[in-house]
Amino acid sequence: LLKIEDLHHSFGSNQVLKGVSFSLNKGETKVIVGPSGTGKSTILNNIIRLVPPDQGKIYLEDTEITATKKINEVRQQIGFVFQDFGLFNHLTALGNIMVGLTKVKKMTKQAAAELALNELDRVGLKEFSDSYPSQLSGGQKQRVGIARALAMQPKLILFDEPTSSLDPELTGEVLKVMRNLAEDGMTMLVVTHEMGFARSVADELIFMEGGHIIEQGDPEQLFTEPVHQRTREFLFQLT
Ligand code: ATP
Ligand code: MG
Repeated sequence: LLKIEDLHHSFGSNQVLKGVSFSLNKGETKVIVGPSGTGKSTILNNIIRLVPPDQGKIYLEDTEITATKKINEVRQQIGFVFQDFGLFNHLTALGNIMVGLTKVKKMTKQAAAELALNELDRVGLKEFSDSYPSQLSGGQKQRVGIARALAMQPKLILFDEPTSSLDPELTGEVLKVMRNLAEDGMTMLVVTHEMGFARSVADELIFMEGGHIIEQGDPEQLFTEPVHQRTREFLFQLT
């Protein structure tokens, strides 16, 4: 579904990605872990071309999205869940989900509201449809963010540290929603520091450091018999 070939990216003289390649099959959950500053967010930002890569190719199905002029159409097919939720404070939970449906997908208000309510139900927040972000906990806000991504019916969803601004007790409810999505067959690329999630939910785990993929494969294997010592050190947070 998604194929990334030899991605390079620099910010000025800071060479961040030095040739990253991997692919993501339909229905697969792939988790990227690695130290801070190693280029994980840059990969996700390259995919939706918030920052275009310097070199390398990214394909979504048969379309080379690094070359397409229709990047807005591509962005509509890729959901994105950020660390800081990105909700509109002046809109209710329902309104936040509806806005993309009415503005981008040109759905009627009624159809959008119906779909939005369904997606809120899916993340366990049906009763909070009329709540504003200020009335929601961090975990609830993030679940609204996930419902918003889902409502657009994307081909895949990118998650960039979706729980890293949450208290530990709120992290679990968001991870549970993500785990359910993975089990439902959603295609997901997840950057996270939650090792328990990486180990138990990922179909494949990528460990990257210094702009390279050090090791990728079956999470259980990376956790128990990694080829590289660095993988072991990182996964068990020994350094
Ligand atoms: P973290 O785990 O802390 O989120 P990361 O792996 O996501 O880290 P990136 O955000 O991809 O790392 O950043 C990689 C490097 O690129 C860092 O050295 C960062 O300072 C630099 N960088 C990121 N965005 C920009 C930018 N817009 N302009 C300049 N440098 C940037
Ligand atoms: Mg990051």
